Amino acid sequence: MAINSIKMKINKYFSNIDKRIVFKNFIFLLILTILYSLMFNIPYLNNFNYSGPVFVLFFIVSVLRDFIIWYIAFLNRWIFAFFTIFTFTASGGLKYLYDYVHMGLNIGTFEIVFSTNMIEASGVINPTLIFLFAISALIGIIFTFIRFKYIQVKPYSNQLLIFFISIVMLIFGLIPDTYLRHEKKMQRIENLAAYGSDLEILPEKMYENFYQLIRNNIMLRYMFHQRQTIQLPDAVNNSDSDKIIVFILSDALRADHLHINGYERQTTPYMEKNNFLSFKEMYACETSTTRSVPCLLTDMRRREERYQFLNEYSIFNVFKAAGYYTSFISAQTAISTADYGQLIVANDADYIFFNNDYSIGYDKELLKHFDEVMANDNKNKLIVMQLNGSHWDYNTRFNHDEALWKPLCGSFALDCPVSHLVNSYDNTIVETDKLLNTLVEKLKDKEAIIFFSADHGQSLGEGGLRLHGHERLHIKEVGVVPFAVWFSDKAKEDNNFGIIQNNLNKIITHDAIFHSLIGCADIKTNLLDNSLNVCSKELVSVPNEFENYKAKPVK
Ligand SMILES: [Zn+2]
Repeated sequence: MAINSIKMKINKYFSNIDKRIVFKNFIFLLILTILYSLMFNIPYLNNFNYSGPVFVLFFIVSVLRDFIIWYIAFLNRWIFAFFTIFTFTASGGLKYLYDYVHMGLNIGTFEIVFSTNMIEASGVINPTLIFLFAISALIGIIFTFIRFKYIQVKPYSNQLLIFFISIVMLIFGLIPDTYLRHEKKMQRIENLAAYGSDLEILPEKMYENFYQLIRNNIMLRYMFHQRQTIQLPDAVNNSDSDKIIVFILSDALRADHLHINGYERQTTPYMEKNNFLSFKEMYACETSTTRSVPCLLTDMRRREERYQFLNEYSIFNVFKAAGYYTSFISAQTAISTADYGQLIVANDADYIFFNNDYSIGYDKELLKHFDEVMANDNKNKLIVMQLNGSHWDYNTRFNHDEALWKPLCGSFALDCPVSHLVNSYDNTIVETDKLLNTLVEKLKDKEAIIFFSADHGQSLGEGGLRLHGHERLHIKEVGVVPFAVWFSDKAKEDNNFGIIQNNLNKIITHDAIFHSLIGCADIKTNLLDNSLNVCSKELVSVPNEFENYKAKPVK
């Protein structure tokens, strides 16, 4: 019988297993995994003030999960030698980064390390780092020595049992992930701000980041190459005066929480004082930063395929061609694959700043880069400033002593009462409003125009939803963003200001940004479509997508 013969084979297999070898192999690997975790995972956890049970759970999870990585390397002694010595040594370097330089284990850290040249790095190399490298390498060498001298792996029939055990360990190691992830977010609010990173397990995180780094680099090179094949368009500066065109792009700001648009709370006193002209509705290109920003900064149209922006001119291309000095200044980072869209478009500008070194806390700190751009000799300037604006975590966007509405949302977004969530959110808008006022003060004596918008809106409990995300364009709270324009007195002298006043009731989309910046700056180019230009009488109102929209009840 087939079943009997299988049974016999299994019995034969188990009776042939050398239990002594299996036991010795297993204990060797277990000690290695535990020691590694104690050396590199537990100290990393120390940075996050975790509670006792989470600490223990995390340690167990790290051992259960990464046992299999060591096990696979273990099967061939030369692979083991290379893998173990390299992993320990590299982890020693990472330990230095998180213990002494307070960097997280995210892809950003890896990109910084691998983009740093040796001269810069020599400033970081000190006795502590050398000691950590040396001690880590030594432990790796000791394990390699034991593996060569005392560990017998063959016959491979023994290994099937350990492989089976390591799979079971891996499965158990993955189960508490959801819990830890949630806990991580909870803790993040309180403790992770300085790290800007996620809590991760070594060595898997290290290898995941290596993989991402290589993949991202290939992708990035490819995309940059594609972009470079675009030649600057034909564009001529039609005006003989010096113009400063500023575009402030907030994040996750919904139109209906602006007092200037009829919101009951006074969130925009300065916009009103400075006579910003506000369109009540602008439909967002998409509902996440990653997708929306490349779309709105280029001639890509709403609802086009998401990578269409790669084939389109950006506002930087056009303004550059018209003789402007162009800049992109961002309070956000551009270090993960997700940021590549905006990184590639920003790369068209002359001056680029991303907050990759976390030197910018509040958005207003971007002003030092604004001033730097303003100091450039070229009198015509395009300045695009990307804020963190009203993006979660709201509480990190403003000084709590100056908060107008309290209590604030005290815990993770999915937990706090909606009224607290809204308090926190509305306080972020006040902060952005203040920043707009500072810019007005800086620009009021020049010929300047400020455009103001956001990449997408935000759910604040409607239908039980919070935050934002893909495929929410049909949700008004997320899909509708503000669009407002300010003219300095000198800029008002041309008649565009009057034209915009007459256009305010028209419904526009993110597509209008590219054409309005160009159109209002009086740049002549055949790329300009006046049906999308708020400074043109020809501006066309798009159909109302929310005519009978009723927000879902808040919960
Ligand atoms: Zn965003």
